Amino acid sequence: MAKFIFVTGGVVSSIGKGITTASLGRLLRNRGFTVAPVKLDPYINVDAGTMNPFQHGEVFVTEDGAETDLDLGHYERFMDVNCSGNSSVTTGKVYLSVIQAERRGDYLGATVQVIPHVTNEIKKRIVDLAKEQEADVVIAEIGGTVGDIESLPFLEAIRQMRTEFGLENTLYVHVTLVPQVGPWHEVKTKPTQHSVMQLREIGIAPDVLVCRTEVPLAQEVKEKISLFCGVPPEAVIESRNAATIYEVPLHYENDGLGEFVCKRLSLEATHNDLDEWKSIVKTLKSPQNQCRIAVVGKYTSNGDSYKSIAESLIHAGIPNDCSVDITWIESDTMESGRPPEEMLKGVDGLVVAPGFGERGIEGKIEAIRYAREIGLPFLGICYGLQMAVVEFARNMCGLTGANTEEVVANPPYPVIHLLPEQKGVAEKGATMRLGSWPCNLVNGTIAQKLYGSTRITERHRHRYEVNNDFREKLTEHGMVISGVSPDYRLVEMIEIPGHPFFVGTQAHPEFKSRPNRPHPLFQGLVKAALVHKRKALAAQPVEAI
Ligand code: GLN
Repeated sequence: MAKFIFVTGGVVSSIGKGITTASLGRLLRNRGFTVAPVKLDPYINVDAGTMNPFQHGEVFVTEDGAETDLDLGHYERFMDVNCSGNSSVTTGKVYLSVIQAERRGDYLGATVQVIPHVTNEIKKRIVDLAKEQEADVVIAEIGGTVGDIESLPFLEAIRQMRTEFGLENTLYVHVTLVPQVGPWHEVKTKPTQHSVMQLREIGIAPDVLVCRTEVPLAQEVKEKISLFCGVPPEAVIESRNAATIYEVPLHYENDGLGEFVCKRLSLEATHNDLDEWKSIVKTLKSPQNQCRIAVVGKYTSNGDSYKSIAESLIHAGIPNDCSVDITWIESDTMESGRPPEEMLKGVDGLVVAPGFGERGIEGKIEAIRYAREIGLPFLGICYGLQMAVVEFARNMCGLTGANTEEVVANPPYPVIHLLPEQKGVAEKGATMRLGSWPCNLVNGTIAQKLYGSTRITERHRHRYEVNNDFREKLTEHGMVISGVSPDYRLVEMIEIPGHPFFVGTQAHPEFKSRPNRPHPLFQGLVKAALVHKRKALAAQPVEAI
């Protein structure tokens, strides 16, 4: 039977529950356990697919095509697992099931209530996930902050699970804040005490407290928290700000979290393999090289909107022994009339990010034109590929006014058009071409060489595609279609030979990159960016260097 760990957060939002959940998962994976993470999200949207990235951050897509919260990205990257769509449980999904069951008459005339019907549905989903994933441990993160009205049914469900599954099979981890206050920067434990009190009011006594702090937690502070909050001192875990998020599991390991959790849940580990993770963190903390990549996108003012792209670039630095600094550029600022050479000054590579709608697309196209013309390494992701095709059609094939039908109803040259299966789709939720799809790569192309294979799979999230009527025109003028769907119908990847690195993909490679397995396309981009940087430096007069 699986063990259940529940992660809650208190005092403030954005306290780092996601990274804590992911890091704890890493510690258990180091010990060889099968871990299934799950995010319990209080919002009423059925999934994150319909949410604005400005407010909610990135929509993370799983292999099986679920549109989920970005925390699943952290879980996958830290634990090196593929999450199931069932790893995302929202209030919307839970209520939808309950109401559908009620309409079918499954409740046999009972009055349908939050307790037990909604809480039963939540518990069922957690237990079903354990079975589906054959997990030794399920780690469930509860979204929001303790005290929020919306998360109460989830907290009640996990409270009940202690009674049902017993002390030896359940563990509550509470992430909390230990701030420093006043002119003497005194460390204060009161917010933690209050947060624990609030949890206890709803019947949950935490077993572990993960304390976010900017300074090391003195033993006496740990003992004070232990005394007031009723957890053993060794279960008061210091969570200091780390140089890189990937260092957090090592901090937790040092502070005894892995050992405490395993002992408490009687999880017998035969080994604890930390070497790979340590070497990743070592490179991330002291790289020999450095490069700068610009990411042009529509939602760059919220740092979380392109979380997986940012992390993929960081991962790609590891095999290149390189730190990757990112310059975020809001795509419509590229339309302000400032020349791209000014906006992209000092940049060694360019990513044009995924996106939807009209705003900023001319800015993306302008950035791509510049990268193509001056030989700046370029990776276009989803909308980024589509804009690269529009740019090439307009400026290389002479197709003036070429565009995507997503923004213009009847462009003179609709080089990007709706996928045939999307015609007539009216509902917005979960109706795009989603999840993992295969792609065949053409031998000898950059893509095929980077992947080291001619048959790959990548995750997708789109409604539009390259219009096959223009394939010939594009290739006649030098664009290479390097990847196609196995039925040859859909353009999956493009590139331009002779350019140092000009690659576009209809998929989202960022969802599959892991620190221990950086994605080949991002690796290729960073490698090309380093070459570009060296060449640019060599071309400068000595006094300018
Ligand atoms: N808007 C484009 C489409 O739907 C691209 C989507 C994306 O970038 N994820 O096809």
